[in-house]
Amino acid sequence: MVGITNCLRVASLASRKAFAILAAIFLLLPTVFSHAAQDEHPSRATSSNNVILFIGDGMDEHQITMARNYLYGPDGAFAMEQMPVRSSVRVLALREDNPKQFRYVADSANTASTLATGLLTSKGRISTSAAKDADQKTILEAAQEKGYRTGLVSTASLTDATPAAFAAHASHRDCQSTKNMAAINPIQAKTQQCNRDLKKHGGPGSIAEQLATANIDVLLGGGLTFFNQPIEYQDNSRLNILEKAQSHGLRLVTTTNSLQSAVNTGQLLGLFANGHLPVEWRGENNRRAELITTDEQGKAIFPTPFSCEKNPSHKGTPTLANMTEHALQALSHNNDQGFFLMVEGASIDKQAHKRNPCGQIGELHAFDQAVTIGRQFAAQQPNTLIIVTADHGHAGQIVPLPESYQAASKAIQLAQYPTGYYAVLKTLSGELMAVNYATNSSPQGQWEMHTGTNVPAYMEGPGLDNVPILIDQRDINYLMRRHLKLP
Ligand SMILES: [Zn+2]
Repeated sequence: MVGITNCLRVASLASRKAFAILAAIFLLLPTVFSHAAQDEHPSRATSSNNVILFIGDGMDEHQITMARNYLYGPDGAFAMEQMPVRSSVRVLALREDNPKQFRYVADSANTASTLATGLLTSKGRISTSAAKDADQKTILEAAQEKGYRTGLVSTASLTDATPAAFAAHASHRDCQSTKNMAAINPIQAKTQQCNRDLKKHGGPGSIAEQLATANIDVLLGGGLTFFNQPIEYQDNSRLNILEKAQSHGLRLVTTTNSLQSAVNTGQLLGLFANGHLPVEWRGENNRRAELITTDEQGKAIFPTPFSCEKNPSHKGTPTLANMTEHALQALSHNNDQGFFLMVEGASIDKQAHKRNPCGQIGELHAFDQAVTIGRQFAAQQPNTLIIVTADHGHAGQIVPLPESYQAASKAIQLAQYPTGYYAVLKTLSGELMAVNYATNSSPQGQWEMHTGTNVPAYMEGPGLDNVPILIDQRDINYLMRRHLKLP
């Protein structure tokens, strides 16, 4: 693994070196971005260095295009797509049974770990090394050591893989609370069993307990159930994880109103759902993609078109933009050093697994609104580096409308139709768009699988003049650490 990884690093660094020479030439000249931003808001800018990492879970180009077509038609663009620097990001995972080899389809645990640590690992792992299970230091931990404030915001349970990887270490993403850790999981490798991580076996304890005691300034998301469980019995305090978090100084808020009125001092734990937060949108009459059936003559019966609508269950839940805005206020309040903040739009992925195009489009829309909040903040604080990226690809594909399949059927006198699950959406501009999910068997496949495509990185802020067009997720960690001057 070391050899292969080093080759990649050398190749990547060689291209950086070439760019660095050019960058050195231009170093004496002001960069357009930083000076424009400084001149625009000279009085409000501070010298603090900040990083905001936005992760759209499962948000590859196909999922972005689907949402953009639905929302803005052929001419529009998301706020993230208007950021000035853009790279294509390679996604890699190692094999747990042989870490010298790669897997080309990853999961949120290993990819978030790579973004957090700058190191590759195997699927399911939370900032620990493949096979060896050694803890790998995260950017959040390194930032804390240098006096930066830190925050994690997600629409998932905070114990879910992406936020967990920035502040916890576990052999598997399932080690969310002590209750989850006792049983042997027959489908996991021996080296990834959660009982290895129990404190009584010399491990760090559950992800919830690790997050509760990690001294993070702002934690906002879901997962009340995982925090409302006993800690591993080690002393006579008999506190549960939530009480332990509060004993470590975290103030608990559980409603949108209490979040809005929380004062910008002290550490904050916002838990707004038992598990993941409800999603913002759903299909009309709760419709998702459907299987295509055939009539007695073998002719395909395509599902009728439908639109998206607001999900009534989301009412009262803070939006990702609300949580991001609050986190930015809390992290920047009277702070001369700066901060590291990770914001995750988690359910783009979770809704794609469920073949729910409206669910994933609504979450992508909400994610982009959070990015807008980040960009507005950075416009006033020019030492802020924003990177918007995804962890891995997903299953949704834009495919031809029924009329194209029907024309082909007529031409060859054989029914032509897509396999998998299919939906025809009535977009906001009135066009129709067909979406298909076909990465698992129909109908018995319970959920869609991730895919292995590159993901985008949209970037804005200082120090981005030399970023190559093709990077991998370790490079994103490198850029963030460089900006915060971390080892
Ligand atoms: Zn997933």
